[in-house]
Amino acid sequence: MTRDELQQRVARLGREFARRGMESHARHLRLYYLGLRRGLLDGFRLELHWSCELIDEWTRIFGWENGYDVRPARSRCRGCGGGSAPGNTGLYTEITFPGGYKVGCHQCGDAWIELEDDDVSARR
Ligand SMILES: [Zn+2]
Repeated sequence: MTRDELQQRVARLGREFARRGMESHARHLRLYYLGLRRGLLDGFRLELHWSCELIDEWTRIFGWENGYDVRPARSRCRGCGGGSAPGNTGLYTEITFPGGYKVGCHQCGDAWIELEDDDVSARR
């Protein structure tokens, strides 16, 4: 990814965080953006823990590029069938955001997004 592409992605992500009321994320990302634009971050991770990889992760979470599968709330794992039965600890919530969360499977490594209100159609 070129710096220009990353900058565009960061700007879009910042607007999305703000739109979703994720103020702390938006504020940290603004600093990341400034550092990026001034060429201060080449080869460095910012101590705010924003990185190219994390930008990519949120891009996937919001389904813009190479997005994670969006599945109904409390889905079982499609990879291995692990899931929502009481006492089953095979699944874990990795990241939450207003309106949804990312679920991961300990057993097979699969990951997907579940939205509150099962509002799958409004996402993309
Ligand atoms: Zn699994």
